[in-house]
Amino acid sequence: MKRILPLLLATLATPALAQTQATPTAPASPRPAPKLIVAISVDQFAADLFQQYRNRYTGGLARLLGGAVFPSGYQSHAATETCPGHSTILTGNHPAKTGIIANNWIDQRVGRADKVVYCSEDESVTGSTHDSYTVSDIHLKVPTLGERMKAANPASRVVSVAGKDRAAVMMGGHKVDELWWWDGKTYVTYAGRAVPPVVQRTRDAVAALVARPQEPLALPGWCKGLDRPITIGNYTVGQGRFARAGGDLKAFRASPASDAAVLAMAAGLIQDMKLGAGAAPDLIAIGLSATDYIGHSFGTQGTEMCIQQAELDQAIGGFLDVLDATGVDYQLVLTADHGAHDMTERQIERAMPMESHIDPQVNAKQVGAAIGRDLGIAGPVLLGSEGDIYLDKALTPAQRTRVLAEAVRRYAALPQVAAAFTAREIAATPMPTSPPETWTLLERARASFDPDRSGDLLVLLKARVTTIEKPGPGYVETHGSPWDYDRRVPIVFWRKGQTGFEQPLSVETVDIVPTLGAVLNLKTPGVDGRCLDLDPGPADTCKF
Ligand SMILES: [Zn+2]
Repeated sequence: MKRILPLLLATLATPALAQTQATPTAPASPRPAPKLIVAISVDQFAADLFQQYRNRYTGGLARLLGGAVFPSGYQSHAATETCPGHSTILTGNHPAKTGIIANNWIDQRVGRADKVVYCSEDESVTGSTHDSYTVSDIHLKVPTLGERMKAANPASRVVSVAGKDRAAVMMGGHKVDELWWWDGKTYVTYAGRAVPPVVQRTRDAVAALVARPQEPLALPGWCKGLDRPITIGNYTVGQGRFARAGGDLKAFRASPASDAAVLAMAAGLIQDMKLGAGAAPDLIAIGLSATDYIGHSFGTQGTEMCIQQAELDQAIGGFLDVLDATGVDYQLVLTADHGAHDMTERQIERAMPMESHIDPQVNAKQVGAAIGRDLGIAGPVLLGSEGDIYLDKALTPAQRTRVLAEAVRRYAALPQVAAAFTAREIAATPMPTSPPETWTLLERARASFDPDRSGDLLVLLKARVTTIEKPGPGYVETHGSPWDYDRRVPIVFWRKGQTGFEQPLSVETVDIVPTLGAVLNLKTPGVDGRCLDLDPGPADTCKF
């Protein structure tokens, strides 16, 4: 299991550049700012998953457990999807301010037929469609930490690499020196940008890796208890070991090897760009997407996720070894964009008989059609499916009022629906200031509400109802709910020489930017979060 990252690193490393660039600075008082910020997001790394596996880690994640550990970090908002989640991590703002209210939302002003806009695209590009889009940062309304560092000192460099474009864009922000994501076939960036040699080497190494068939990975002994089949329709999951045929790009994406590849590219960029060795501190954001693809494809309680946890731990360990060899004093933070919980079929077998798939009667198309019939209005009436629901812009003001009232009444009567809030109700709710686990559903909705982009109505499902109507290969489990299994993620800070501690009470992902800002002696006005004191004793890293 330890072979993929070293293989790629061997391909990538430029020996002359891999040599030590600086001698580590001995901890002094007050400690000088680190030279490099390393921010890792593990997509769908739920607090529950971290809790389940933390005693099994022996590699990079085991090392990070010696840092400042916040096992109950919150993506506090209701819309616990990848794009909103990543938009909080390095901005310090809730999605209500980042403007990233979902992975996709409806904008009835756009010219395209389906009116669906993707969070990290520029829909104004001529000829672009929802399925064939141009990646862009235009929807992100606030600066990232990297942008703030560049504003303070233009010599700071910002790099963002990820398995998904939306992770790379939302963590990198608007001013990135290098931004690379996997497009399903290879690593790409914005049009017109040069391909650094290390990225080309990554492309070549990954292409060769994908072309070869993959034997099943070894099953760690502690995974054996999970090695049981779960039948979903006409196929089975739960016992997979990531064997794949040569050339299977989809299987590669949902495998530990895709995380190892992103880490190898990140390590290569750190070496080649000499990140952390310049006049000003640099930042690299790394989005590891495999945990999410594996969760969606196989759930959280099979051999697949168990192997992934073991491989992720080792791959991060290999990456940290490369970082250490540069001699750069780096501050690392690791967190996630949202949590998840296991697939419905296995949950039912595991003492959760109330788990259910969403009923088609909750879908806005059905609800809208019924309202249209009753009120004698032609046309779709409601747009969307679940979550954010939009009133058709063709409705008259009088029709809008009647349709909205009728929609609220009908949704509230459905047994799977926890709440149906109007945009006006959500907008009138103050941003909560209490600990995130105490927030009401309306307050959670408020934190991911943007009056310009959110629906006219927000429909929230009851806990343990999944938005997957009918599971199929690659999509058996998901997240996106306002419930804590989707909101809670670990947040871990680690720096060489730092004294570790654990704080089990809740903190938030919006706290990361003011915390890192303090470490960098950088004020971060306008953030929603607060600085977390990373010193377990009387000293206070927030005072600078
Ligand atoms: Zn995600």
